[in-house]
Amino acid sequence: MAEQPGDALVLFGASGDLSRKKLFPALYALEAAERLDVPVIGVARSAWDDDRFRVQARESIDEMVADAESSVVERLLARVCFVSGDYRELELFDRLSVALGGAVRPVAYLAVPPFLFDDVASGLAHAGLNEHGRLVVEKPFGRDLASAQELNAILHRHFDESQIFRIDHFLGKEPVQNILVFRFANSLLEPIWNRQHVASLQITMAEDFGIEGRGGFYDDIGALRDVVQNHLLQILAVLAMEPPVSADADAMRDEKVKLLRSVRSLRPDDVVRGQYRDYRDEQGVEPASDTETYVAVRVAIDNWRWAGVPVVIRAGKGLRRTVTEAKIQFRAPPSLLFSSAGGTGAAPEPNELRFRMKPDDRITLTMHAKEPGPGMRSRPVDLAVDYHDALAVEGADAYERLLGDALAGDARLFARQDGVEEAWRVVEGVLADPPSVELYERGTWGPRGADALLDGIAAWDDCGGE
Ligand code: NDP
Repeated sequence: MAEQPGDALVLFGASGDLSRKKLFPALYALEAAERLDVPVIGVARSAWDDDRFRVQARESIDEMVADAESSVVERLLARVCFVSGDYRELELFDRLSVALGGAVRPVAYLAVPPFLFDDVASGLAHAGLNEHGRLVVEKPFGRDLASAQELNAILHRHFDESQIFRIDHFLGKEPVQNILVFRFANSLLEPIWNRQHVASLQITMAEDFGIEGRGGFYDDIGALRDVVQNHLLQILAVLAMEPPVSADADAMRDEKVKLLRSVRSLRPDDVVRGQYRDYRDEQGVEPASDTETYVAVRVAIDNWRWAGVPVVIRAGKGLRRTVTEAKIQFRAPPSLLFSSAGGTGAAPEPNELRFRMKPDDRITLTMHAKEPGPGMRSRPVDLAVDYHDALAVEGADAYERLLGDALAGDARLFARQDGVEEAWRVVEGVLADPPSVELYERGTWGPRGADALLDGIAAWDDCGGE
């Protein structure tokens, strides 16, 4: 059933911020690519009619999509309509059912606060729309293991797991999928992708800006919940998982979950939390807030491929630059034939492979070559591929990809219940007993205390220094 394409898209939260910023632009892109051939029904509390909803959709596209083609916008607007009402009232779902006409496999996108998931799922079931429909749910998926399990139980009352598509928009990003292809479409890497050859893994998600007026939201969440539990553990899974037995959704997700299962639960000693100076003065932030705007964790993977390889992950706001990158550092050569440091005999820097996901999509392999001139000295050189330049195409935006996949019934890039719960299990011990935050200056790489996590790794990465 899950593989059959949906025959309608129902957008709960159609008047909200996510719809405006991400979902209408994604719908525009799908329409432009002629991949949207179903009616789109917006549902929200605002007392709008179809025309008012179309105005909203048009405004969103005008604001968010550069050079939108009017013929595409008109095609999209012709397939949208609106049903107004409160999700807590069942009669809304009867009216929705009428608006759906003969559609039997509606895809319901829940761009609503999680406390409303229960009402929407129950309402859909009341109208019989759960039978062959699908649910797409937004993050955050719980705020700890217990609440994620509770949310799963709520959704499973009316939908089975194959009908639930949990969004982690990072998985929809082209450079993240590119890691998978790079790893599993090239046989070159497999022999060295293990503890014999890899010295360390580092994953960084750094932002040079602060919380930008979102204090009310962020202060209740913090960096660990906001990006490490979900996005960065997913990147780790993609980097470190075993090859799936096939490309189907469960084979791929089985391997990711297996990897997460082998990640040791974090203890407070494995974590350094930081807060940029002046964070507490931001609007919406508690004056004595202990929320982290930076977090670094040291992760141990207990399996045959990775046991003993140091893995560090950090994420933060107000840092030196905006960059998302994963770096694999290989072991140094066993004998120092060619010094890179002017004949002092110092070891050349080990080879590195970097997957840069932001601001550009680039893969860089740092090797050593002969320094020109007399002598036999080595010098690091980069073999780099800029994904866009090399392939000369723009990839789809993550929401376009995920919305298209959800409509098509392709669950590969969506998080599965067991994966979400494993990721919460990894961070649970720190959520329960968080070390206190260390202040750091904006424009730096975060609190000094994070260096203590580097045991076995020379330094935190400067992420290309650009
Ligand atoms: P908003 O508060 O902007 O929108 C909420 C939507 O839900 C509105 O359309 C609102 O309708 C509707 N709604 C709320 N209560 C009811 C109700 N009782 N009955 C009917 N409609 C109701 O939220 P966001 O769009 O920002 O976020 C939606 C979800 O997406 C959240 O889970 C959030 O965590 C997640 N998310 C958001 C991101 C973002 O950038 N905004 C990014 C990633 C995830 P109305 O306004 O008409 O009352």
